[in-house]
Amino acid sequence: MSDCIFCKIIDGSIPSTKVYEDENVYAFMDVFPLTKGHTLLIPKQHVQDLFEMPEDVAKNLYAAAPKIANAIKTAFQPQGLNTINNNGAFAGQSVFHYHLHFIPRYDETDGLKVTWETK
Ligand code: 5GP
Ligand code: ZN
Repeated sequence: MSDCIFCKIIDGSIPSTKVYEDENVYAFMDVFPLTKGHTLLIPKQHVQDLFEMPEDVAKNLYAAAPKIANAIKTAFQPQGLNTINNNGAFAGQSVFHYHLHFIPRYDETDGLKVTWETK
């Protein structure tokens, strides 16, 4: 898609810091990292969100996910890692090319309050 910033990152017309690439997916550092090592994994095929994602795109995307997680683990030595994906503006999606966030977690000083504790 010509007006999609993530398609432009894939074709190289917008620069990015590459973490991983294969024929189906591209992973790169988030330009506004929530924590050190915050990375985005995207399909090379333009897919708006999870609702629109064909099964083969999903398979190829998640096949790469452990590689990204382990690259982050090796490079940044976090204590944990959140993956999160926003679908639709109401859910916080701001770039309408599917992306899976990898947010390394360090300790209480990482500044994030993200937990999924049930009470
Ligand atoms: P969303 O809010 O859609 O789930 O996340 C979009 C993410 O894309 C944000 O974390 C934002 O910082 C990141 N982002 C937006 N534009 C660019 C860009 O041009 N380059 C990179 N590397 N990240 C971007
Ligand atoms: Zn796109």
